[in-house]
Amino acid sequence: MSRDNGKFPNDRHGWAELLPQRRPQPALTGAHRVPWTVVGAGITGLASARRLAGLYPNEEILLLDARTVGQGASGRSSGFAVAVSHFGGGFEADQVDLYRRINRINQAGLDLLRGQVAESAIDCQWHEDGFFHTAADRMAIEECEHFLRYLEALEIAHTPLDAEVLNARMGTSLYRTGVHLPMGALLQPAALVRGLANNLPANVMLHEQSPVLGIANGGPLTLSLPNAEVQTDKLVLATNYEATKLGFLRRRLIGSTLSGSFTRALSDEELAGLGSLREWGSLSLHGGGATVRLTRDRRLCLRNAAEYHGGVLLSDALLARRQTIHRAGFEKRFPNLAHVPFEYAWSGVEGISRNSTNFFGRQRDNIYLAGGYNGSGISRGTAFGTAIAEYASGNHSQLIGDCLVSAPGTWIPPRPFLDIAASFTVRSRFRRVDLDR
Ligand SMILES: Cc1cc2nc3c(=O)[nH]c(=O)nc-3n(C[C@H](O)[C@H](O)[C@H](O)COP(=O)(O)OP(=O)(O)OC[C@H]3O[C@@H](n4cnc5c(N)ncnc54)[C@H](O)[C@@H]3O)c2cc1C
Repeated sequence: MSRDNGKFPNDRHGWAELLPQRRPQPALTGAHRVPWTVVGAGITGLASARRLAGLYPNEEILLLDARTVGQGASGRSSGFAVAVSHFGGGFEADQVDLYRRINRINQAGLDLLRGQVAESAIDCQWHEDGFFHTAADRMAIEECEHFLRYLEALEIAHTPLDAEVLNARMGTSLYRTGVHLPMGALLQPAALVRGLANNLPANVMLHEQSPVLGIANGGPLTLSLPNAEVQTDKLVLATNYEATKLGFLRRRLIGSTLSGSFTRALSDEELAGLGSLREWGSLSLHGGGATVRLTRDRRLCLRNAAEYHGGVLLSDALLARRQTIHRAGFEKRFPNLAHVPFEYAWSGVEGISRNSTNFFGRQRDNIYLAGGYNGSGISRGTAFGTAIAEYASGNHSQLIGDCLVSAPGTWIPPRPFLDIAASFTVRSRFRRVDLDR
């Protein structure tokens, strides 16, 4: 069941459902005049508002979100904060600068997040012991070889693992090969986003359920909301794929809808039947393969469905249908746990571009934007959000330089071609995936 907030629906499925109730910050009402506004309180917007607050300790930074905190992609991710990206396909020596640049951005974001989680003692199941990258089908096994070559060429610490070791650690014999990277953190995404929102600097004014419906140019920019109007000198858009609703990146960025399920908490006996690790995460080396986790609260969580669905969440009925796909992925990995029911299913919408680029920079006078991370935005969104605040303030740094180099987004055709092209793009990630899904 979903509660509609105009074009920005909330829904009750997701990681937030596993957390205690939270009282949202009140919606914005009335007329306001501020120097800085950040729109979007996901990972990017929270990082941006925090950085602006530090740069301008005597100014009020307005942070607006159309939904309640945790309802965007950031609160619905699978919770892998990566340090090292996997670039699909063969290792390309002439792409080494790009590989290094993206990994520097990831690492900067991970370092910032770690610091914020520690400083505010955010209880989000932060577990920094890296992840497994796994392969079961032939295509993913080939990809594992490419991945190893890349890790070796860039001298990134890693441990290749065979099927026996993977099984001994995770408790599934599905994977034939894999790699463990020690860098990267697992976390409860909704708990992280809530924790960041609850611990913002005192000069950030957060208002939830406050959709910006229009932006008018002028001396100060004028933002219109259902029951408020804001005049602001500068604006940071951290609205992910929904920047398109405000007229930005319309032909460059779309939303792809992902879905997954969690089991109930496993019993001691069920847990003992798994591998030696009590908390782990596995990313598939096939772009259409499953993301799987054993969470600190003893749930197995699996996300293996993605589709173009007009950039919106799945309805209850569709989510129930997608559970068949989640269930098949679960039972082939954990046949001994086939009796364990799913307790929740969730969907979320990630911002993707045709050429897998990210967006960073000035869109118009006094309007800056960061976002669109193609399914890898926890670390990167933190770095981009921080850097966009600094860039909009006229600063320079290596991080800003790294973000600015992002390639422009490739043109996406209008509807109805968009629907055909987008569903083709999303579907193509499942090409030749069988066991890995
Ligand atoms: C199911 C799923 C699994 C994922 N797993 C991972 C993972 O494991 N690791 C990883 O790194 N990444 C993952 N991602 C991607 C990651 O979640 C995103 O890249 C990242 O969270 C984007 O952060 P953001 O702050 O830019 O956007 P969002 O979190 O989407 O935040 C944007 C916010 O802007 C608000 N907004 C939009 N328009 C307006 C408006 N007009 N007015 C006011 N507010 C507005 C929205 O309500 C929203 O809260 C996953 C994504 C999904 C959907």
